[in-house]
Amino acid sequence: MTANNNNTDVVVLGAGIVGVSAALSARQRGLSVVLVDRREPGSETSYGNAGILSSGSIFPLNQPSLFGSLPKYLSNRHNALRWDVGWALRNPGWIARFLANSAQSQVKPRAVALQGLIKTSLKLHRDWIVQAGAGNRIRETGWLKAWRTDNISAAKADQAKLTEYGIKSELLDRQAISALEPNILPVYSVGLLHTETASVDSPGNVTKAYARMAVGSGVDLRQAEIKSIAADGDGWRVMLSDGEIKARHVVVALGPWSADLLRPLGYRVPLATERGYHREFTPNAARKLLRPIHDAENAFLMTPMEQGIRVTSGVELTDRDAPSSYEQLDAVVPLARSVAEFGEPVGEVWRGARPTLPDSLPMIGPAPRHKGLWLAFGNQHIGFTTGPATGEAIAAMIAGAPPGFDTAAFAPSRYI
Ligand SMILES: Cc1cc2nc3c(=O)[nH]c(=O)nc-3n(C[C@H](O)[C@H](O)[C@H](O)COP(=O)(O)OP(=O)(O)OC[C@H]3O[C@@H](n4cnc5c(N)ncnc54)[C@H](O)[C@@H]3O)c2cc1C
Repeated sequence: MTANNNNTDVVVLGAGIVGVSAALSARQRGLSVVLVDRREPGSETSYGNAGILSSGSIFPLNQPSLFGSLPKYLSNRHNALRWDVGWALRNPGWIARFLANSAQSQVKPRAVALQGLIKTSLKLHRDWIVQAGAGNRIRETGWLKAWRTDNISAAKADQAKLTEYGIKSELLDRQAISALEPNILPVYSVGLLHTETASVDSPGNVTKAYARMAVGSGVDLRQAEIKSIAADGDGWRVMLSDGEIKARHVVVALGPWSADLLRPLGYRVPLATERGYHREFTPNAARKLLRPIHDAENAFLMTPMEQGIRVTSGVELTDRDAPSSYEQLDAVVPLARSVAEFGEPVGEVWRGARPTLPDSLPMIGPAPRHKGLWLAFGNQHIGFTTGPATGEAIAAMIAGAPPGFDTAAFAPSRYI
């Protein structure tokens, strides 16, 4: 079937990693697909992330240990979390639900659900990245979490939690860290290497490569502002800045912008934005970083990217479009310099927003009160990892086929 802008099977809204994956998967199932974004594919959150394809991120931030960390976060000076008081006062319900999901009883069901999603997604990434001609961008060198203090008990506790779910990791001492990353300075006493985790050197370009593969398979990519959507007979009408598209199915994959489009349909989605920043720096070619490093005590990440060393900040809880505040990033750049040698900044500071629901699980499935409306967003800190399986599951549901993993925990009806 060929795509026809006036009457297509599926229109996917948003060409981040989730939307591109949904479009590609739907096309692979023989459906005609239009993919719409106001920017080039992979230009927003799917561009600026840390590029980690994480096998072990099955424990969201809201877990029991969060309660112990709250006192230090209340001061609003910790690198891991800054929060805007005005935002907190306007969103007490989201905060209360987020905290309620930190209870011990919520750990296992969410870890099991996320592990199914992550496993399926990593397999898709490893297949697609080769098929898309971008196999040179993936590194199978793991991800190192490292502690400057001799906090062996924290590393062991992390490892025990991963082992419980069959996720492999290796405990490292100072010498083993130096052997693994010979070009960093010896600031870390203890490390935990997530051996089954991969990373890429440009998440934006990987998303673009998947988009090119989707277009090559017949997806019609359109660049336009999406204004609104409306039910139309047994299908949908999507109003764009330059016209409209009719489709039997609409997939909302607008990342942190997803809730806006759904509000006029009566859906109040409790989607918060955990903002984050990055800045890249020219690498020292003679002192290469070989994998992403997570500085455990100082709450920042450093990833070797195509254009340089990308330093990524922790969470800033505030409105999606509030003015930028660079304090959190400024605080960690000198700390990153104490680990790796790198030069001048490359380009400007980037800001993005991790789209997060109160249980830190994405919405993957049908909108409860509208036939043919599919929701695929809320992938929080691990959306680059989980985008492919999120999109593939939606495509399977549209085609009436079983998704490759258990999607029950991700049903949109749990919140709307
Ligand atoms: C600092 C930071 C570090 C991160 N690190 C990692 C990591 O290492 N590993 C990992 O797995 N995840 C990571 N993440 C999370 C990950 O980046 C996101 O979860 C993921 O990119 C979300 O993808 P998406 O497709 O849902 O959204 P997006 O990539 O934001 O895509 C949404 C698209 O919708 C489009 N859009 C929105 N509104 C409109 C409109 N009205 N009209 C037209 N187009 C519109 C936008 O242009 C955009 O392209 C990180 C996030 C941040 C912020």
